[in-house]
Amino acid sequence: MTRVRVPLPGRRYDVLIGAGIGAAAAGSIAAAISARRLLIVADARAWEHHGPPLHRTLRRTFDTAVVTVPPGESSKTLRSAERLFAACRDHRLGRDGAVLAFGGGVVGDLAGFVAATWQRGVDLVMLPTTLLAQVDSSVGGKVAVNVAGIKNLVGTFHQPRLVLADTDWLTTLSPRERRSGLAEVVKYGMIADRHLFERLERAGGGLLAASPEELVAIVAGCVRIKSAIVVRDEKDENRRLLLNYGHTIGHAFEAAARGRLRHGEAVALGMRGAARLAEGIGWLDPASRRRQDHLLDSLGLPNRFLGVGPAELEAKILQDKKVRDRKPRFVLTRSIGSASVAPPIAASRVRRVLADLTSS
Ligand code: NAD
Repeated sequence: MTRVRVPLPGRRYDVLIGAGIGAAAAGSIAAAISARRLLIVADARAWEHHGPPLHRTLRRTFDTAVVTVPPGESSKTLRSAERLFAACRDHRLGRDGAVLAFGGGVVGDLAGFVAATWQRGVDLVMLPTTLLAQVDSSVGGKVAVNVAGIKNLVGTFHQPRLVLADTDWLTTLSPRERRSGLAEVVKYGMIADRHLFERLERAGGGLLAASPEELVAIVAGCVRIKSAIVVRDEKDENRRLLLNYGHTIGHAFEAAARGRLRHGEAVALGMRGAARLAEGIGWLDPASRRRQDHLLDSLGLPNRFLGVGPAELEAKILQDKKVRDRKPRFVLTRSIGSASVAPPIAASRVRRVLADLTSS
């Protein structure tokens, strides 16, 4: 088992990563929190695959109630949160209780939002079951729901007490979900780790069938990067913005596509757009931009999406939380492994890139 520490002052926690470590989850959780009453919020599909054995072990130590959440982004709403608040009440979850999130980024964000707000905050434990959630969303404490058609509009920061990522849970992911998670892995390589990027290049499409050891190493590598960034900037004021590489355009695609693109697919499009913008302002050399394109191609991630128009994307980009004075701010790379927030970019340049990504 690999242990990565997130050393936030006064609230440090561990991320445990390993194949098969879910079998010992009860002991790991009991060592991290004092709560013995747990509300388990589970993605219905992940629970169907992996829930029963996990629940058997948890029930020996904890007083549990399980609420399953229908798969998909449409569950990340205030309405779902209200259903979970009712479940907290029915399970008599007090300030000394805890919420456990078992699922992908949707369940992590939703259950985390409930844990952050139920009785002004109870402990949260993350058991991420998608690659995207293991490498990214379960670490760092951002929790939110979508409101008024805008992603993550209402939320807060609420760090978990423990993250336990069993890579065996990933074996039941569809190839599409695996590819989607790999997009976030490429992001880490681009913003912070040239060696990770090169490792991904060497493995190429073989990553879709990565060995358990390879998966553990990849997840741990990403979590180490995320931990280092979050510790320096927990509240998203400067350095943490780098994690948004590919997300300004990516979130616009995700929202405009209304369920037709997975989060990672949208981020892949966003990273392709960001690399073009970086090349256009002379930050990234054309060969590095092509290397990113080639890696995303080899992972089967989309290079365009014809279902939306550039004007709709532009409007969505202006709803981004990073917009100041109606000017979007993009995280761009100067080279593979090094990113910064770029100065404002001319709307005409952004439009050209969006047109490129949405035409055949
Ligand atoms: P998801 O949670 O919707 O899960 C994707 C699909 O995988 C679902 O259909 C689910 O049922 C299925 N699934 C989950 N685990 C499975 C398993 N082990 N086997 C088989 N199927 C399984 O999507 P996601 O890609 O994990 O997360 C996307 C969400 O994460 C978005 O809402 C995004 O905004 C959020 N996110 C949050 C952060 C953060 O820092 N909080 C960071 C990145 C993304």
